[in-house]
Amino acid sequence: MTFADLGLSPKVLSAVTDAGYTQPTPIQAGAIPHALLGKDILGIAQTGTGKTASFVLPMLTRLENGRARARMPRTLILEPTRELAAQVEENFIRYGKNHKLNIALLIGGVSFDEQNKKLERGVDVLIATPGRLLDHRERGKLLLNGVEILVIDEADRMLDMGFIPDIERICEMIPFTRQTLFFSATMPPEITKLTEKFLHAPVRVEVSKAASAATNITQRLVKSGSKPWDKRETLRNLIKAEDAELKNAIIFCNRKIEVSELFRSLLKYDFDAGALHGDMDQRARMQMLANFRDGKLRYLVASDVAARGLDIPDVSHVFNYDVPIHAEDYVHRIGRTGRAGRSGKSFTIATKSDTKYIDAIERLIGNKIEWHDGDLSTVVASEGGEDDAPRRGKGAPRRAGRKDDDRSREKGGERKPRERHAKRSEDTAPETVREDQPVAEVAAAAADVGERRSRKEAIRSENTERKSSDRNEQRAPERGDTRPQRDNSRPARQRHQEDNDSTVGFGDDMPAFMRIVAKV
Ligand code: AMP
Repeated sequence: MTFADLGLSPKVLSAVTDAGYTQPTPIQAGAIPHALLGKDILGIAQTGTGKTASFVLPMLTRLENGRARARMPRTLILEPTRELAAQVEENFIRYGKNHKLNIALLIGGVSFDEQNKKLERGVDVLIATPGRLLDHRERGKLLLNGVEILVIDEADRMLDMGFIPDIERICEMIPFTRQTLFFSATMPPEITKLTEKFLHAPVRVEVSKAASAATNITQRLVKSGSKPWDKRETLRNLIKAEDAELKNAIIFCNRKIEVSELFRSLLKYDFDAGALHGDMDQRARMQMLANFRDGKLRYLVASDVAARGLDIPDVSHVFNYDVPIHAEDYVHRIGRTGRAGRSGKSFTIATKSDTKYIDAIERLIGNKIEWHDGDLSTVVASEGGEDDAPRRGKGAPRRAGRKDDDRSREKGGERKPRERHAKRSEDTAPETVREDQPVAEVAAAAADVGERRSRKEAIRSENTERKSSDRNEQRAPERGDTRPQRDNSRPARQRHQEDNDSTVGFGDDMPAFMRIVAKV
């Protein structure tokens, strides 16, 4: 089957040809003809399957007739995160290059003014995160009764993030006669209920089992001692061993505190690393991603929330610095490599306390994951209590009684080891990375290739102000259990915010139930 067989318009076909696609993927072949006929679609597919084009291409074709009116968008695409929303916008720009469509992106973290101006001009394609969309609506800047096509993307992710009440509200604001294109990687009961309520006789297109891990990815478990310095050392050794095959890597951590610590540690060891999590402002996040995509950064340390669903086509390695607590996250993480038919490698660093999480992952993917170099029974208990070598080189006390040859060689022999495989350029290299420096700041600085001078100044001036609040923030998660446990007593959205966003309160992502005015 070719794209020409699907019924897309000549303008769209020409853009698809320019993108270099010759054959539709299964989700595209299954969804596009029905979407063009105006039918509702229930697409069960993960990112990486070509699902974005499966709704963007028919939408572009259908938008060729008609025009937008002020404040009344013709189509609406809901995405769970800002990055995914921006990624969908890129897709519209790419495939819509032969169309003159107005596209607006309504996401948090950027000013309302620009967004209002766009809405005033009339929007053909509105891409939004639920919180910011509702804010605009409540400010009277947006009317949803002109929406002809509604896309709800990554619905299971929306559920994880507590957005379902917002989605329900939004669905109720849009005319019943709309077409709805609904995508989810998995179909938990809450999502099934939502589809039953808001889709009309949908065509169901399922492209692969949501929980299946791609077969073109080599997966290995790597044993490690459980102390942070053990795990960091294990990671560095792995990276070193993989150097010849390693083009670039995403390194996943479970919590932002770990993203922050590992990122700083990698910088100290001169790895060409960036970090991605919700503490960073939107500009820094986008810049960081762009630098990683463009090959200016070789390693990206990330949290699940920041990285899930992102389309970075050519990632050779995924390292799980922490075993994910939720087994589905494993599938999503390793799916960042091996995209578009390429092969990829994933290494998951495992400690003795991770056994139950590994069991859950293996049950989910239906396979045992091979150990890289012996299983956990061969782990030698850690003796040390120190952190990374460079810090000790700068005066931290050395504990007596260490016998680990490798580590003492590394720590004693070289004060500041320079990894030969790190490809940091002068422009991206931060100077001293301090322990109390907010990761967002260092990360933003590292992302700003070419703005070295302003970066230095920014770090110097902001450091003083942020020092105390950052320290408080970083200490908090370390109290109590060393293993991050999901606190189910709080709503998922709130957990997400606390783990990944520095916004005070809910910011512009306040859940619907909190907007209800209390009767007194
Ligand atoms: P998505 O699942 O939408 O995140 O897409 C995953 C990747 O597949 C993106 O980099 C797309 O550019 C690419 N892609 C989408 N459709 C096709 C196609 N028909 N042939 C080859 N690559 C595609």
